[in-house]
Amino acid sequence: MAITAPRGTQDFLPEQTADWQILEQKIRQICSLYGFGEIRTPLFESTELFLRGIGETTDVVTKEMYTFNDRGGRSMTLRPENTASVVRAYLEHKLYGDPKVHKFYYMGPMFRHDRPQAGRYRQFNQFGVEEIGSKDPAVDAEIIAMAFQLFRELGLNDLVLHLNSVGCPKCRPIYRQKLLDFFADKKEQLCDDCKARLEKNPLRVLDCKEEGCKQAAVGVPELTDNLCDDCKEHFAKVQEYLTKIGIPYELDPRLVRGLDYYTNTAFEIMYAPLGAQSTVCGGGRYDGLIEEVGGPATPGIGFAIGMERLLLTLKEQGLLPPVEKKQPVFIVALGDAAKTEAFSLQQQLRAKGMYAEIDTMGRSMKGQMKSANRLEADYTVIIGEEELAAGQAQVRDMATKEQVSVPIDGIVAYMETHKKG
Ligand code: ATP
Ligand code: MG
Repeated sequence: MAITAPRGTQDFLPEQTADWQILEQKIRQICSLYGFGEIRTPLFESTELFLRGIGETTDVVTKEMYTFNDRGGRSMTLRPENTASVVRAYLEHKLYGDPKVHKFYYMGPMFRHDRPQAGRYRQFNQFGVEEIGSKDPAVDAEIIAMAFQLFRELGLNDLVLHLNSVGCPKCRPIYRQKLLDFFADKKEQLCDDCKARLEKNPLRVLDCKEEGCKQAAVGVPELTDNLCDDCKEHFAKVQEYLTKIGIPYELDPRLVRGLDYYTNTAFEIMYAPLGAQSTVCGGGRYDGLIEEVGGPATPGIGFAIGMERLLLTLKEQGLLPPVEKKQPVFIVALGDAAKTEAFSLQQQLRAKGMYAEIDTMGRSMKGQMKSANRLEADYTVIIGEEELAAGQAQVRDMATKEQVSVPIDGIVAYMETHKKG
């Protein structure tokens, strides 16, 4: 039986990685404008990190992690997201000792045992940022603005920002109790997951996509009506900054995000034409996380963008520029001695930063000319037996079809002054 790629994973062939590179380049550009530096953490971590850092009641942890015991019997997990790892690295390198705002970005594969479908994979890539050290609402607005600038520069305009505040350890417990009271006589209407959530993290019930749970939640007290004064002020300020810079948003009091450590700002950016997989960016503030993972109380905020979904969207909208083809100098050689000369010439041209190719398929003169055309060579250098004996080559400008005779040891210099691409 043929071996295929695991379900929910994909290969990206060279034509497709060209699109990835365009996106990655754009991302790096934006990150440098906003002062974010790249962080690369391991693809696997101690399972414990994700249990503590993501929250044991979330779908990611209960249903989606790739967890295995290594040969030393330690439980390891392929990272399902990168925030916990970034925070671990921040602590491990004692970056909190340097009292400034630390701005990290990452790009790379994440692993979740999701149900594969368009826009949903088991290995997928995220671009994300984490800004650690400041509680300032300007930071919340900054990273939202950053995601918007990225999307807009890529040509995506029909984006909707859903915004909420999930409060803090001061106001949430009071709201939590209100929720428990509200759902006390509605327990039977909830799905099994939500029955369990009610015990551990009732806020998550608001986020449930099950129809029964949505029904049960009709008339529920809203989180945003129950914020403490500090949280209210923080939330108002975030909105003021967003309004000031012209970023439209919709308040969405049911948006609680999947993760337990979020505080204050929570947001998602949706691109409606994607349907059920319409969320391209999810993020929020996590002032409780760093303490949870064992560090000093430190505020932080971040977002993650699903890169496959973003690329799908860009493709559907025709927003990916055609791949620019690089034009080689193609050296046509006839006979073994000429081939050796061509091989050497190919290397000399490359050493000078010019793209060059020769035939390695044993093709005839005609076949080699065809290859030159197929590769869209801008120049073809022809070395036949006679030319070789005279130390000369024919150089053909493929656009004008003009042909000149050039000494073989002068080809590199000739190309340096003539080659277009
Ligand atoms: P969803 O509700 O779609 O499962 P999520 O809440 O699990 O999303 P996050 O954990 O917020 O997603 O991850 C941020 C982004 O990563 C998502 O908005 C999405 O674009 C992308 N993403 C998440 N899971 C997958 C997946 N299995 N395949 C592809 N992209 C994904
Ligand atoms: Mg998910």
